[in-house]
Amino acid sequence: MSNSGSQRELDVVVVGAGFSGMYLLYKLRPLGFSVKVLEAGTDVGGTWFWNRYPGARVDIQSVEYSMTFDPQLEKDWKWTEKYSPQPELLKYAQHISERYDLRKDIEFTTKVESAKWDDKTERWTIHTSTGDTITAKYYVMASGTLSVPKDVDIEGKNRFKGATYLTSRWPHEGVDFTGKRVAVIGTGSSAIQSIPIIASQAKSLTVFQRTPSFSIPAYNGPVPETVLDEYWSDRDGFRQAQRESAGGVKHTPTTVSALSVSDEERNRIYEEAWAKSGLVEFLGCFSDHMINPIANEYLAEFVRNKIRATVKNPETAEDLCPKTYPIGTKRLCVDTNYYATYNLEHVRLVNIRKNSLKTITETGIDTQDESFEFDAIVFATGFDAMTGAMVSVDIEGRNGNTLKKAWEAGPHTYLGLMAKDFPNLFMVTGPQSPSVLSNMIISIEQHVDWITDCIVNLRGEGFTTIEPTQTAQDSWVQHTNDYGDISLMLKANSWYVGANVPGKPRVFMPYAGGVGSYRTTCDEVVRRGYLGFERKGPKGTAVNDGKIKQLMPDVELLLQAMSTMEIPLFESMSAVEARAFGDMMSAGRPAGPEVGEIADGTLPGAAGNTLEYRLFRPKSKGPHPVVVYYHGGGWVLGSATSDDPMVRDLCDRSDALIVSVNYRHAPEDRFPAAADDAFAALKWVADHVTELGGIPGKLAVAGWSAGANLAAVVSQLARDSAGPALSGQLLLTPVTDGSKKWPSYTGNGEGFILTQNLMDWFWDHYATKEERLDPKASPLLAKSLAGLPPAMVVTAEFDPLRDEGNAYAEALTKAGVKVKHLQCRGHLHTSISMVDVLPSGASVRAEMATAIRGFFGATVTA
Ligand code: NAP
Repeated sequence: MSNSGSQRELDVVVVGAGFSGMYLLYKLRPLGFSVKVLEAGTDVGGTWFWNRYPGARVDIQSVEYSMTFDPQLEKDWKWTEKYSPQPELLKYAQHISERYDLRKDIEFTTKVESAKWDDKTERWTIHTSTGDTITAKYYVMASGTLSVPKDVDIEGKNRFKGATYLTSRWPHEGVDFTGKRVAVIGTGSSAIQSIPIIASQAKSLTVFQRTPSFSIPAYNGPVPETVLDEYWSDRDGFRQAQRESAGGVKHTPTTVSALSVSDEERNRIYEEAWAKSGLVEFLGCFSDHMINPIANEYLAEFVRNKIRATVKNPETAEDLCPKTYPIGTKRLCVDTNYYATYNLEHVRLVNIRKNSLKTITETGIDTQDESFEFDAIVFATGFDAMTGAMVSVDIEGRNGNTLKKAWEAGPHTYLGLMAKDFPNLFMVTGPQSPSVLSNMIISIEQHVDWITDCIVNLRGEGFTTIEPTQTAQDSWVQHTNDYGDISLMLKANSWYVGANVPGKPRVFMPYAGGVGSYRTTCDEVVRRGYLGFERKGPKGTAVNDGKIKQLMPDVELLLQAMSTMEIPLFESMSAVEARAFGDMMSAGRPAGPEVGEIADGTLPGAAGNTLEYRLFRPKSKGPHPVVVYYHGGGWVLGSATSDDPMVRDLCDRSDALIVSVNYRHAPEDRFPAAADDAFAALKWVADHVTELGGIPGKLAVAGWSAGANLAAVVSQLARDSAGPALSGQLLLTPVTDGSKKWPSYTGNGEGFILTQNLMDWFWDHYATKEERLDPKASPLLAKSLAGLPPAMVVTAEFDPLRDEGNAYAEALTKAGVKVKHLQCRGHLHTSISMVDVLPSGASVRAEMATAIRGFFGATVTA
């Protein structure tokens, strides 16, 4: 009940009486907090209160889309359908509100109009549409992610004299379209669910489609007995599996790539997934649909063929086939008879990409080629998603900073739970949390539990405010963006990236790391004393500044996967065993991109020995500039072919001919054999440039790790021996200094694949302590670095060799050498070279290839 015009003080104000707001109330009230939930609608239910369009139903199986906090509730509530319809979901929400006596603390028909933080009183002042003023210690936005309809941005939208409907604001009494000529604008989830029902009533239905959606069949019906049996046989295990999963549904992820199986096997798995349905399961039937464009295209084409097989008119079928974005990068829809509806005589699809929608008229819709007359128009045009509900309220935090302004360039949050300058303001399923990429119920419960624990903890520890630090927030925003960058999500104009709302910044808003790992992260933040938060109270301020995630997401996943395997240490083996083990590890890796030609040969080494080389020729017509490449492996391991995937990648990207040369290895041939062979190979290539298909005078060197050490060394030798002339040197995570251990040697010495112990093992095989002081082993120790060719030095944040690589880049710059120094955030010594395994390395290799092109164009920008 609202106290119109009243002024009140509360502990917590919650906005929204959907599942989030109700669960918060359920949790906070018995803990002794005074709480009110403010709700704009006339009843509980949130999404399921507002979205009453025909056919509206959940797209996650009901058994999984259920509140899990009370097992007795689960026993008592029986879902009737696999995917419950909106009326049943609304009844469920109403049942929860009654069962736990929540309504008495929910004020309906009450909109929050503004909320302002007062630093002195440490309270939020909230003004509502009913004229109330409430102050509260904590303000929680549980207002939903898809709750504010997008403005209908179509010319003439108010001219139409017939009936108009918005799917998300459907009349409570329902609509009967019998005998009516109906238009639907939009083909997202809401349209795809409502179109078959509207078609079953209307005299005619015309659908105006701008972008087709991918949709899979729901096979809706009674809740399958098999699902119920599985659930009740181990209820706790089932729920735990949901909480630990990626999408909040019980699904065991596969590690099998769509590229690793035959066409027949792939098709068999797709058919099986199609027959089972389930959007998480369908997209997840191979491991790489959301990161690898080729894998994604296989799945997309499979669905297109299903559309073609269903829709009889070939032109309509083709119009319904999405071709402009990867599958899954717009929300995958789950439908009942959507595509088949277009086989009905009175249903027509208008592709407004071909026949553009000009305006809505008094009597219908004009397109470029045709005038349509309608009795009713349904707008299924979507939402101002994720941030819309947050910024539509005038929220003013510290120092007059408004949330609208703070998020002008996209949301900035810590964990999608809080934002800097907005103390004691919490968000449930906010942007930069898994929210819309997951089963919302699982994410809602996790957030509500975290927020409740946080408020209880503050009270217990005597703190009155909590707010993220700038460092923590910035790094979380970065981490969320990193996930966006390694996935295909940015390739669609979706509401996930704000592209559906004109003027909204294009930013990937949800967190794609999965609910299980996200939950672990949120728990870790607490375990580490609220890492990334500043908490204040009468006893003082506790600032626990820091970053919770620093590795690239794919690098972190790799390390996690490796930690579960028992991989023997190289340094526990003999050199011969280590080489065999290295070869075995390399055997299953992706090959890297196609190049024009690969040819193997031999060349003379420095001591009358013979060295193998492998030549990688670009696809373009030669002659090409030439790069001599030296492989990694600590002067002990590797060969002319051991870095194949990365060399192919560099060849393809840089359009340079690359000659990967071998050199003698330690301990059989210790220092300076490798350096001498590396220089001998460079001279031989320089003498044979034309025969190899290269352009005389366009020669550079490149290498990775110990190979980068050799590339740096031969650059110095070439300078000192007056040739060969080099256009550039590309040094990827180089070894440059064997004389001392830089801080990164210990700081990153454990847990990041290349360890301090392994590096010691390599050095011990290669050179004595005295020999390491020789610039032929430690190029950083050269008397002068002046006169060396332009360089690109790439160092990785979590590499033991980071600091010596950085030192070499700085020393080169100081000596007047043109240097492009790339310091790769979140990377390891080994991660940049893992072609088609770790997507985050691709942008680094692209920059390396640009540098190679720059060497031969004679300009490298520092
Ligand atoms: P949506 O996915 O954003 O779809 C809106 C549709 O309207 C798109 O086809 C869009 O075309 C079109 N549109 C927008 N403005 C237009 C314009 N000016 N002219 C022509 N066409 C225009 O919205 P939605 O269908 O309401 O679904 C939103 C999300 O809500 C879903 O992705 C889903 O997450 C959730 N939802 C879930 C369920 C469920 O659980 N079962 C049901 C409904 C919705 P463009 O693509 O070209 O912009």
